[in-house]
Amino acid sequence: MRIVDIKATTVAMPLEAPLRHAAGAHWGRFIRTIVEVVTDEGLSGWGELGGGGETAENAVVSLLPYIKGHDPLQLEQLRWKIMNPVASLYNARTQVHAAIEMACMDVAGKALGVRACDLLGGALRETIPFASYLFYRYRDDKTGLGGEVTPEEIVAEAKRQKRLHGFKSHKLKGGVFAPEHDVEVYCALAEAFPGDRFRLDPNSVWSVEESIWVAGQIAHIRNDYFEDPCFGLEGMRRLRDRISMPTATNTVVVNFEQLASCIRQEAVDVILLDTTFWGGLRQAYRAGQILEAFQFGTSVHSSGELGIQLASMLHLGAALPNMSFAADAHYHHLTDDIIVGGKMQYIDGEIALPKGPGLGVEVDRDKLAHYADHYRKVGGYTYDRDPQREGWYSIQPETRFADPARR
Ligand SMILES: [Mg+2]
Repeated sequence: MRIVDIKATTVAMPLEAPLRHAAGAHWGRFIRTIVEVVTDEGLSGWGELGGGGETAENAVVSLLPYIKGHDPLQLEQLRWKIMNPVASLYNARTQVHAAIEMACMDVAGKALGVRACDLLGGALRETIPFASYLFYRYRDDKTGLGGEVTPEEIVAEAKRQKRLHGFKSHKLKGGVFAPEHDVEVYCALAEAFPGDRFRLDPNSVWSVEESIWVAGQIAHIRNDYFEDPCFGLEGMRRLRDRISMPTATNTVVVNFEQLASCIRQEAVDVILLDTTFWGGLRQAYRAGQILEAFQFGTSVHSSGELGIQLASMLHLGAALPNMSFAADAHYHHLTDDIIVGGKMQYIDGEIALPKGPGLGVEVDRDKLAHYADHYRKVGGYTYDRDPQREGWYSIQPETRFADPARR
């Protein structure tokens, strides 16, 4: 089987409400580029990468000369053809490789009648647990949802998410307001769900010293881990030496060089693996295997996925032996998906590993066209700006937090 063509379609998928984060906001939609690899046997494989819009489309399609005639099962060859670490200094191809690798595993799995996780060695679990992903949100006029800022409002939203999806672990995306506000909200969550587990992630905007203070305030809570409170491998290492709870990162360990350095320094306890940041499902799994040898924990990171990437996350979660914590997903904030059958469902906080070959999901071409059209209408957005805070941009450590009194 050989690749004969590659296509890329950018879609805009509406969210229930705009999601606020430490560097800005998701302005009420996710922009994703859907990649289709077409083979000479008439089979298609699907991949997905984030952001970028037309730029991402061009970056994907421009790789056709590199992969035309390539056998999709030759994944190690694919890695070197596209993502040679020195050649890649001249181009940022990691995420493009991720989407093509996903599509190749999808189409190779379909041709062989095996699941993507079977290409990694098989599944250790058939359902993957997820954490609720709680954001401070702006109110959305269309859906009537969002607008949560106070502890009471976030707890009410967490109760709604738990009622709908059954989550037993909860993640608060902090860093929008001053750390005192996050502490208040996080402690209120812990009080509201005494049997559950919790994680706090302010996207690296606190200093090491502020992070130490917050760690002291939340030490009594059943914390999964303290995720990226401050920036840098050295910052995280200094913090880890000074606090008692496990730490986690999805920002400072995102490639194999950083992974080696993190392990040597014992800088962070839990590495959150992303199937796009690391260059693909197989690359993320490979990182997980290295971490297993050194007895480090892993879990699955979410970078704002639609159903194709979510499927890759499920296959990763199924195959990783050392997946010690519930995975993250933004998925429940979407209003729809581009896959056949609509959005995958959470049952008791878990999503079932798709049963079909490859990634196990099929793209609904009508929905793909519909949300591509929506993208042409609404366009992209600036992820690292806040639509309600004119002139503001984030720095690390942050000193100009948002005001909870201003909605
Ligand atoms: Mg994070």
